[in-house]
Amino acid sequence: MRGLIFKPNTLAITALLALTSALVPLAAFLWSGGVPGWALLVPVIGAGVAALAVAFMFDRFSVVQEALDVTRSAIVVYDKEDRLVLANRRYREVLGVPKETFVPGAPYRELLHRSLERTMPEADIPREMERRLRVQTVADGQPSDRVYPGNVWLRVTKTRTPSGANIGVAIDVTELYELRGKLEAEMRRFMALAESAPVGICQIDSDAEIHFANSSLLEMLNASDPSELAGDTHSFRVDGVVIAGFRGLTRHLFSSPMRGEAHVHFIEEGRDVLVKKAFVRGRERLHDLLPPSRAAGENILIFIDVTERARAEAKIRFLATHDALTGALNRVAFVEDLATAAAEATTTRLTTLISIDLDRFKPVNDAYGHAIGDELLRVLVVRGEAFLRPNMRLYRIGGDEFAILCRGAAEDELVAFANDLVDQFRTPVLIDGHSIVVGASVGVSALPRDADSPEALVHYADLALYHVKNAGGGGVMVFDKAVLNSTDSRLLMEFDLAAALEHHDFRLVFQPVFGLDGDRAIGMEALVRWRNRRTGEPVPPATFIPIAESTNLISRIDFEVFTLAIEQFAAWLEAGSGLDMLLLNMSVRTLEAPGVVDHVADTLIRCRVPGRSVTIELTESFAVQSVSSLTQTIRAINNCGVRFAIDDFGTGYTSLRLLADLPISFVKIDQSFVRDIAAADHRGAQSVVRAILDMAHHMDIGVIAEGVETEEELETLKRLGCIRFQGHLLGAPAPAEAYADATVL
Ligand code: C2E
Ligand code: MG
Ligand code: MG
Repeated sequence: MRGLIFKPNTLAITALLALTSALVPLAAFLWSGGVPGWALLVPVIGAGVAALAVAFMFDRFSVVQEALDVTRSAIVVYDKEDRLVLANRRYREVLGVPKETFVPGAPYRELLHRSLERTMPEADIPREMERRLRVQTVADGQPSDRVYPGNVWLRVTKTRTPSGANIGVAIDVTELYELRGKLEAEMRRFMALAESAPVGICQIDSDAEIHFANSSLLEMLNASDPSELAGDTHSFRVDGVVIAGFRGLTRHLFSSPMRGEAHVHFIEEGRDVLVKKAFVRGRERLHDLLPPSRAAGENILIFIDVTERARAEAKIRFLATHDALTGALNRVAFVEDLATAAAEATTTRLTTLISIDLDRFKPVNDAYGHAIGDELLRVLVVRGEAFLRPNMRLYRIGGDEFAILCRGAAEDELVAFANDLVDQFRTPVLIDGHSIVVGASVGVSALPRDADSPEALVHYADLALYHVKNAGGGGVMVFDKAVLNSTDSRLLMEFDLAAALEHHDFRLVFQPVFGLDGDRAIGMEALVRWRNRRTGEPVPPATFIPIAESTNLISRIDFEVFTLAIEQFAAWLEAGSGLDMLLLNMSVRTLEAPGVVDHVADTLIRCRVPGRSVTIELTESFAVQSVSSLTQTIRAINNCGVRFAIDDFGTGYTSLRLLADLPISFVKIDQSFVRDIAAADHRGAQSVVRAILDMAHHMDIGVIAEGVETEEELETLKRLGCIRFQGHLLGAPAPAEAYADATVL
């Protein structure tokens, strides 16, 4: 389709037409015999030149028209009476009028009517006509955007020429409007997202001016309108600093690194909020494309309300660091606090550990039941906590063990405190009408004075505690490092033994007992072994048993050995060994210990070992006068089937009366006699052995000869009538693994 005024005529056609129009009258004149020929040339040439000029102009206009037609903008010129003078193809398309009505001279009103009747109901046309005609009169050179049929947006600029013509140029800005529509859709989407987000969102500019705050954020701040955020009504705490006003907060947040997060406490609202910061560096700057009112800063703050989470975490942390029964701090808290307190300790500000162990708690628990035992612990914790000084914390380490960590207290004060604490724990507790009395043993050690590490601090406080316990409990001992280097090796070993018990350092070896048939063991004797963890050296029982016997330690060692030995014996029975007898050594002091009968009975039942297969060896060196009081215990144990033997028989003071009164099943002939029966002067020794065998025979007591080292000793013993033997010749003590092949036994 071509433009409005010029048809598609070429230079040649135009020139031909012009020439023809000039030559036809000339030929007619010549033919009629008019004026001489040269005079006639003047008008002929004049007409030709005119024709050529017209043709030239036509051609120029044609080029201009073509140029106008190919542009995307609509161009139109109306004369001062608003009649069409010139327009391009785009204008006609936009107006949407038929070609035949689109002719020079056509009034704008007519063209407009034609245009509107294509797109609008008849009834609406008059009003729109009126509006458009009014607009048409405005030709002030100012651009204005209008929408045309087909959602085409044009930016129209109309200018009036001095002669009154109205020149309209319209640029197609549809794309711009499409983009704007998209941006608005994006914006709506962002707003929908931001508003429905369960987190607070705030957009601010680099001056901390708030551009947007979503409803979640307003809710967090108990605000109904973003304008409320401008004032100083809210206050916040960040890293311990109190900040007034929400803008103050945003300014504070953006003075720190632009990315990352901060924990903010909303003071008035009592909320804990995690704020994530995001600073969008100059990418497409959204606000350049938006009207000024929508322009936004590019700094985004996301507010996540973690109040509930913080509460839950605090609760979990409380549970993790507190003892569920008493509410006291627990071992986890102790380990953490100990590490910090140890790190802070200096020679002038000691970190002191007070280790506490209740005395007689187990019997109370057993006698009154666990509910009362639990209540007792609760009461003692309340008492202990009420008694603490400000620089102290109390922990329940486990069972009836407690600890107090103290930072920077003077030693004499601490000792006084610890003694008062023992008194506190000794004071009777009234539960369910029972007046219950326990006590406490306390050990104290300090870092860095005594120990150079938290572990050593605990170890030494415990050593002091064990010492108090072994001395009967109910007291305080401050660990003295000098003890470790002192010549008082006995005291030192007490500490070491107590530590060994705590760490279960005791091991067992087993030595077989043989009958006349030397191929098959009839029993196994359990012997204790101990490597001192402090020195790394093995210590023989002959050294540490007497020391243990002088304290309460021996019963704990014997209980431990009894358990280990019975468990091992049970494993052998399980594996199908033909072993008949397990022999164990037990100090008479152990028989005096509370709970010994229960310990024996419970262990046998738990391990399903018949009491009959167990023989307890008592060393003969025990004080005779104490025996009568032990008779009851020995009989009670014997009631479980367990038999008794007198060890090292012949070296001590066992009276025949004792042998007769107690349920003794065996005597073990001491190695000193065995050694002597094969010596040059063997007469005396042989007589003693013969006498023992004789006596035992008559009392129906079995005899075991121990320490048999040579064939000669063995043969002599056999000749004298002995039928059970033990010694290096037949088998040295060895760990249980050495007898793993149960068929050998
Ligand atoms: P015992 O019960 O008379 O044990 C025999 C001791 O003689 C063991 O020494 C054993 O290793 C050793 N022995 C065995 N055969 C021979 C031999 O042919 N020649 C020589 N020279 N020695 C032999 P061990 O294990 O050092 O035990 C020493 C003592 O310590 C035991 O004497 C026993 O009285 C005591 N003992 C061992 N274990 C325990 C225990 O668990 N509790 C108690 N209360 N005392 C124990
Ligand atoms: Mg023995
Ligand atoms: Mg012995």
